[in-house]
Amino acid sequence: MASVTLEKVNKRFGSTRVIEDVSLDISDGEFVVFVGPSGCGKSTLLRLIAGLESITHGDLMIDDTRVNNMTPPERGIGMVFQSYALYPHMSVYDNIAFGLKLAKSDRQTVDERVRQTAKILQLDGLLDRLPKALSGGQRQRVAIGRAMAREPRILLFDEPLSNLDAALRVQTRNEIAHLHERLGATMIYVTHDQVEAMTLADRIVVLNEGHVEQTGSPRELYERPGSRFVAGFIGSPK
Ligand code: ADP
Ligand code: MG
Repeated sequence: MASVTLEKVNKRFGSTRVIEDVSLDISDGEFVVFVGPSGCGKSTLLRLIAGLESITHGDLMIDDTRVNNMTPPERGIGMVFQSYALYPHMSVYDNIAFGLKLAKSDRQTVDERVRQTAKILQLDGLLDRLPKALSGGQRQRVAIGRAMAREPRILLFDEPLSNLDAALRVQTRNEIAHLHERLGATMIYVTHDQVEAMTLADRIVVLNEGHVEQTGSPRELYERPGSRFVAGFIGSPK
């Protein structure tokens, strides 16, 4: 587990400013959800935290360490994307084991971690299957398993449910909530879906054109939206 601190983080692509002075304190074990319309910078902010994009200026700290110049593996972060991005020629077992093997864990540790991860995600019976023989929900659970297996201190999710049908979305959402209770890891989750945000978040961060419009618990935002923009997103009349 770990805290994440952003201090006046900015990101430019060429001359376009995509993230503007974002400052946030995310506590150890907190479940934070970034919401906002398409193009407001949610994925970019997540990728900056993961280390998949470099920060133009500002500071990013994990616990008390400045990580601006650290690679993604050095940051101890796992990430789950919108598309499952599994290796099609590898079994469920090997997909989950992949990151562990890269980290040069010994065989027994790999085996224990894969089986434990599969158990938590109810994939025990599916370890020998190839991705093409899985449902969408099962594939997304494998992707989550791959991110989890290295026991990252921080798990990032970028719209992980958007390719699932409605029933699977609810089920997988509940599994992610359960996973958070069970692991106690710090989770940062991006969605444009208000229901996901309201049900999963300890705290919601509403983004608007690259800046933080408001942060608060789901209830605070619902009862006291600071602007029409937030009210529009969270669903209470203002
Ligand atoms: P969201 O995830 O909220 O939909 P993004 O973070 O993907 O938004 O994008 C925010 C803005 O940054 C958009 O205007 C997008 O076009 C731009 N953008 C994202 N990635 C790049 C990139 N690699 N190069 C140039 N512009 C980018
Ligand atoms: Mg996005």
